[in-house]
Amino acid sequence: MPDQAEGLAAQAARVARDLDLLGLPPANWPATPAGPDGAPVLDVLVVGAGMYGIAATAALAFKGVRAIRMLDRAPEGLEGPWVTTARMQTLRSPKHLPGVALGIPSLTFRAWYEARFGAAAWERLYKIPNADWQAYLLWVRRVLRLPAANGVALRRVEPHGGMLAAVLEEGGAERVQLCRHLVLATGRAGTGGPARPEGIDPALWPDLAADGGAAIDFAALRGKRVAVIGGGPIAWDNAATALEQGAARAEMYVRRQVLPQVNKGRGAAHPGFFEGWATLPPAEKWRILAYTQDLQAPPPHESVHRALRLPGFALHLGTPVRGARRCGDAVCLDLGEGREAMADFLILGTGYAVDPAAMPEIAALAPRIARWGDRYTPPPGLERPELAAFPWLGEGFELVPRDPADAAPLTRIHLFNHAAFASLGAIASDIPGVSVGAERLAHRIAARLFAEDIAAMRARLEAFAEPELQGTPFFAADLLAGGPPAR
Ligand SMILES: Cc1cc2nc3c(=O)[nH]c(=O)nc-3n(C[C@H](O)[C@H](O)[C@H](O)COP(=O)(O)OP(=O)(O)OC[C@H]3O[C@@H](n4cnc5c(N)ncnc54)[C@H](O)[C@@H]3O)c2cc1C
Repeated sequence: MPDQAEGLAAQAARVARDLDLLGLPPANWPATPAGPDGAPVLDVLVVGAGMYGIAATAALAFKGVRAIRMLDRAPEGLEGPWVTTARMQTLRSPKHLPGVALGIPSLTFRAWYEARFGAAAWERLYKIPNADWQAYLLWVRRVLRLPAANGVALRRVEPHGGMLAAVLEEGGAERVQLCRHLVLATGRAGTGGPARPEGIDPALWPDLAADGGAAIDFAALRGKRVAVIGGGPIAWDNAATALEQGAARAEMYVRRQVLPQVNKGRGAAHPGFFEGWATLPPAEKWRILAYTQDLQAPPPHESVHRALRLPGFALHLGTPVRGARRCGDAVCLDLGEGREAMADFLILGTGYAVDPAAMPEIAALAPRIARWGDRYTPPPGLERPELAAFPWLGEGFELVPRDPADAAPLTRIHLFNHAAFASLGAIASDIPGVSVGAERLAHRIAARLFAEDIAAMRARLEAFAEPELQGTPFFAADLLAGGPPAR
């Protein structure tokens, strides 16, 4: 096995060489304006320094958009779910996905892994441990020297003239950062928060219930009866974690009679879907969205085996939970037809909502944001309220005003998370689509900045005066800057 530090240093040198060969990143070119009273303006503020934030920031830098900044409210190294709230033992994805490579081989996960642990270890690796994935993402951010700040939260965004005012909070103090574009790479948890089924009493929180994607004090559940609602990956891994950490029982309640069998998302993880989805007619998108939503994805078999191995695990298929309420120190679950079950703690593994009104950063703008329900009416039988709530986004992940006459700079806000799924496909959701999504986002933002800055671009072009013919008999100094074209 190579020395880890040496291996990674050599890998960093390979990345530097690849960037050099590709001429990346180019010099900054947008004509970033100053704000009122000379306040500094960013061309793009990227919120979220997880996998998608890193990819977005890198892709923008690779387009020569350099007045950018990425921020995350989490401390450095703790962004995203991987080493905080993700409770699977390894990633669900196969190991050979390139990661946040943006077409550069030395930036792939495999290149990083081999540099750190050796090629033989790569051959032996079954699936990627969560902590390795987190370490890899951090390495990409550092090796590309992305401009980033941790411990900074975006509270809300407000229109500010033709720009955006991002209200940030750092160390308890608020400040405003002006930007021309805002990219919300705020992850699964950032699309509207955990989805809580109707009938689950909010008064159960925090002592008797938790959302499966939140921090949970499992040590406090030792010896207790834990109920888990949901049959997806998060539900299974929470049940297993509770038992591994000493819970007496983990009872999982699943609405379906049979678990979903096939992960259709895998079947759609190819360049056709990634590149082509955005331009499909809405009716075609909807048909496939409704189909995959109805089928749902199965839990990974590793998570199922993990839970089944543990004493105290029980799965109740075909058992929808109609309500849950506080009964003294315990939780009473209403299973319908007069049946009840008791638990000491409830964990919801029911996924995340997608709802602009529940995204605190843009909630105030939500009534002005177009959603699928505003723009598309499905045929009878295909109505799906959850899909209708998705924002209707433009081709660069930008929000679109509900009223076309609305002058608010909504189209400067780009939703680069799973909320983009209906409009743009799985290129802001999971690992396979990350490079395609970042490339699309950066391409569209760069094109818009250029169009907006065209007067400055023209002026710079006219002032550009690199004397190609200097030293030849045909050098004409008076024609260098902005002179009329020679005929
Ligand atoms: C448990 C779990 C397991 C998963 N496993 C896989 C898998 O195996 N394979 C796969 O392809 N996909 C997987 N996914 C899906 C997806 O890849 C992950 O959700 C991934 O984290 C998405 O990356 P992201 O950058 O979009 O979001 P995140 O990694 O969640 O990063 C978002 C960041 O934004 C920050 N943030 C949010 N709001 C603000 C704010 N207002 N101000 C400042 N910072 C903010 C957060 O602190 C966070 O660090 C998994 C998802 C989960 C939840």
